[in-house]
Amino acid sequence: MSLFRDNIERMEGYVPGEQPQDEGIIKLNTNENPFPPSPKVLAAVKEAAGTGLRLYPEPMATEVRKKAAEVFGTCPERVLVGNGSDELLGIITRAFAGPGDKVVFPYPTYLLYKVLVDIQDARVVEVNFGEDFSLPEDIVVEGAKVTFLCNPNSPSGTMVWPDEVARLAKRVDGALVIDEAYVDFADANCLSLVEDNPNVIILRTLSKSYSLAGLRLGLCIAQEEVINGLIRVKDSYNVNRLSMAAAVAALDDQQHLKENVNKIREIRSYLSESLREMGFFVYPSQANFVFVRCKDVTAAGEIYELLRRQNILIRHINYRGLEDCVRISVGTKAEIDTMLDAMSELLCETEKGAGK
Ligand SMILES: *Cc1c(COP(=O)(O)O)cnc(C)c1O
Repeated sequence: MSLFRDNIERMEGYVPGEQPQDEGIIKLNTNENPFPPSPKVLAAVKEAAGTGLRLYPEPMATEVRKKAAEVFGTCPERVLVGNGSDELLGIITRAFAGPGDKVVFPYPTYLLYKVLVDIQDARVVEVNFGEDFSLPEDIVVEGAKVTFLCNPNSPSGTMVWPDEVARLAKRVDGALVIDEAYVDFADANCLSLVEDNPNVIILRTLSKSYSLAGLRLGLCIAQEEVINGLIRVKDSYNVNRLSMAAAVAALDDQQHLKENVNKIREIRSYLSESLREMGFFVYPSQANFVFVRCKDVTAAGEIYELLRRQNILIRHINYRGLEDCVRISVGTKAEIDTMLDAMSELLCETEKGAGK
């Protein structure tokens, strides 16, 4: 007999991308930022480490709330700080969805949503994106408690534009959670929707555009009533002292963010164009990765394996119907050139891979 609840016994956990800890690997598989964070972050962490670790952190991360509010042009009461936006996604799911409740998201998207819903023993309602990753009409589900929209979406890198998301916000039942993990790399964002929509919850993270995946710092922006409800669900001390100090410093250095993002966007164009010249279909990306269609499933697998043998990691996730696709994070120009060279060698040898 199992110790676990039936739904936990039945479910599959989230499988994170490979995180090899050895040096010398070109890591283009989990959308980390290839550039270092603001130097002000390290200084702030050092200072914070020197004092106060004996004491619990301030429960609401008030300094981070204030700084984030300043950056987002809102008030601190509309911001909640989390131990990564993954934690905030968990808090939201726990707060809104119980056994049997409907939680909606498009397919394919961030795989964690399904795991969180399964833990709640809530009901997953997956609706397929359009061929071009446009929003499907049936994303509006009667009685939904939560609708997740990863925007820009992973793994596709595509974006649903704010005017369309605004219409969606008015039509969905329950909360509309807009996961903007990659939005700093995009041409637009949905932050302003919070003002008119009490059901809209925006999620941001310092993991991607601020180069702080190792720090675990996420931000949630919503109307005060929503934030106050989520506070009841969160752990008291969910954000540690070092992360708080780092987050304030990172958010304060908007110049660093801008330069970082500009570099990534430039390399993203270069990467997309180079792959297209090699014959691949590359989806238009608004994120720090590109989603690439290969000739077929075998070709996608071969490209992944070949690069892996040369210590270059990309992602080949078997999304149903997209088994011929790989996802490649934007690295430094040098990393991307190394990868492109390795890929063209394979294509020459086998005449496989691209061919579209
Ligand atoms: C990376 C990512 C997150 C996780 O962010 P953390 O702040 O590192 O937990 C959330 N959502 C999506 C879509 C992501 O890609």
